[in-house]
Amino acid sequence: MKKEVKRFRELIKEKKLIDSSLGILQWDLETTTPRKGKELLSEMVGYLSMKSYDIVTSEEFLNLVKFLKANEKELDDIQRKEIDDMAEEIEKISKIPPHEYQEYSELTAKTQGVWEEAKAKNDFSMFKENLKKIFEFNIKFAEYQGKKDKKIYDIILDEYEKGMDTEKLDEFFSALRGEIVPLLKKIMEKNKNSKISCINRTVNIDEQKKFNRFLSEYLGFDFNRGVTAESEHPFTLNLDKNDVRLTTKYIENIPFSSIFSTIHETGHGIYEQQVGDDLQGTTLATGGSMGLHESQSRFYENMIGRSMSFWKGIYDKNIDVFPVLKEINIDKLYREINRVEPSFIRTEADELTYSLHIMIRYEIEKGIINGEIEIDDLPEVWNKKMEEYLGVVPETDRDGVLQDVHWACGLIGYFPSYALGNVYAAQLYNTMKKDMDVNSHLENGKLDRIKGWLRDRIHIYGKLRETAELIQEITGEELEPKYYIEYLKEKYSKIYDLD
Ligand SMILES: [Zn+2]
Repeated sequence: MKKEVKRFRELIKEKKLIDSSLGILQWDLETTTPRKGKELLSEMVGYLSMKSYDIVTSEEFLNLVKFLKANEKELDDIQRKEIDDMAEEIEKISKIPPHEYQEYSELTAKTQGVWEEAKAKNDFSMFKENLKKIFEFNIKFAEYQGKKDKKIYDIILDEYEKGMDTEKLDEFFSALRGEIVPLLKKIMEKNKNSKISCINRTVNIDEQKKFNRFLSEYLGFDFNRGVTAESEHPFTLNLDKNDVRLTTKYIENIPFSSIFSTIHETGHGIYEQQVGDDLQGTTLATGGSMGLHESQSRFYENMIGRSMSFWKGIYDKNIDVFPVLKEINIDKLYREINRVEPSFIRTEADELTYSLHIMIRYEIEKGIINGEIEIDDLPEVWNKKMEEYLGVVPETDRDGVLQDVHWACGLIGYFPSYALGNVYAAQLYNTMKKDMDVNSHLENGKLDRIKGWLRDRIHIYGKLRETAELIQEITGEELEPKYYIEYLKEKYSKIYDLD
């Protein structure tokens, strides 16, 4: 038994080294690789993905996992969870023919460059053939699972959030739509006479960078174990808890875009930096489900970053560092960063309309997978849904169907994680407020209290515990959308003085 555990560890170590190298390549592709160099790096990604695939599908590894699974009782909790997860992953991955796996890895690596160019040129037709292939692969891979009683989209959704399916999401989105759309109408009515946002003005990128670095550090991101860079689409990469990387996109005349995206990625980064030491070197040394991960970033971005108390804690001290603050006052800032205004871009959407953006993507993914929507028609379908839910139609595909990188990366089924993240975040926030005076900590700069609360209850467990189990344990309830809806209603009724 000891011998088998030792060999399992060796192979996992090898796999982790390859996966980390893949992470570095991914980082490079999105931050510094020249356009013409992307072809080579994409090939490197394809090659290394195969090496990683070969390890987990080798006969030796399969036999090891089988043996250890059969002798599970002799393993400790961490090993047992690793073996369970591995057995599940092997079950899925070994059903995919190797050449298809490699083809798909190269396709998604390449498509990111294609998407970037299509977006820059505002030309959906450049992107659509690759997108068709990506959806086809995802559908095919899901079919290989052989779960005949399950819908294809349900199999895909389950990859990102265990137990999540279209039935639950349909119910959730319809509850959300029922509450948010009328609230949005009331606010728009009130908004009629208000002027255009006054906080976005030109701030040079160096000044933005300085302030963003301050924000990350202030929230608790450890720069001895992390770095930041720029990319077209902000993301977080973790190699292990000692190397966590965040990216931001800077837009000179919209400084608050980089601010909120930095706070968001910092939330992801803090999660990764606080994973327990006992999990290092194991496959569990990273955040839990995607929904839970997004709950941490959305919590920092919205519950913290868009709160009055947070800004009270930093406003005066940063007036000279970040000139926008000098030109307006805190009440105006608070109102502006919470201004509700239907807009085209998801990542810049206000908290209230954000979930409607997600709903559009969810309905489109579901439609494509069910064969009800053709990829060729996407620009049109997109705009129709924007009109229906948000009342605005983008003038270009760049501001419409081409805005997100996710589908180009093969992340089909990921978007609902953001909406679930909002729901988890509000539910956790509700419990956190019972445990401590969150606003007072924010006003007094005691961000470590908040970070510590999240560490002890969530971050420290990495992937060891299932999300549903954690949420139940921390909040005493299952996933419960009512806290999110209440949170939005309360916040916006106050800001917009609604009855
Ligand atoms: Zn995120």
